[in-house]
Amino acid sequence: MQPRMQVLQGDITTLEVDVIVNAANSSLLGGGGVDGAIHRAAGPELLKACQQVRQQQGECPPGHSVITTAGNLRAKAVIHTVGPVWHGGGEHEARLLEDAYRNSLLLAEANGYTSIAFPAISTGVYGYPKPAAAEIAVNTVSAHLIRRPQLQQVLFVCFDAETAHLYQHLLTQQGEES
Ligand code: ADP
Repeated sequence: MQPRMQVLQGDITTLEVDVIVNAANSSLLGGGGVDGAIHRAAGPELLKACQQVRQQQGECPPGHSVITTAGNLRAKAVIHTVGPVWHGGGEHEARLLEDAYRNSLLLAEANGYTSIAFPAISTGVYGYPKPAAAEIAVNTVSAHLIRRPQLQQVLFVCFDAETAHLYQHLLTQQGEES
């Protein structure tokens, strides 16, 4: 049987999955890194959708997620989640990162989707140490998937080889392959 969690090295914007997760900032109005890449690939429709959410709900706090259409992307929807900024580990960063993953999975399920791709949330400009963030990502997703059959495929999309190796190692330990 195909493992439900897999690692991919590459650009998340090119994937044909139901949902792509964006590592957004609280403004939801775009930024650099993966956020900028997703908005560039999706086109202006995505920004418009984010502006609407923003008008209805205000800012998106760390650990929370919102869903929009996906503009020109091959995905059906984008889930924008806000990871924590790393302040040294004493400001609930681990819990907030777990929340960002878990709330994104719940939102994808609530919308009836079966496949989802995550970037390595918070490990760019937000400075979360990559090994610790990868462990939280894999543990949170794997705990969530137990007894929840709806999500068939969860991809961890790594931009660099170092991150891909970290995930690979963790998934091998979990008995999953990539
Ligand atoms: P954050 O602000 O949450 O730290 P960043 O976008 O700065 O978000 O970085 C999050 C991760 O996304 C980093 O590991 C970065 O290398 C990665 N990344 C950047 N662009 C892409 C992309 N096109 N596809 C997948 N991952 C990406």
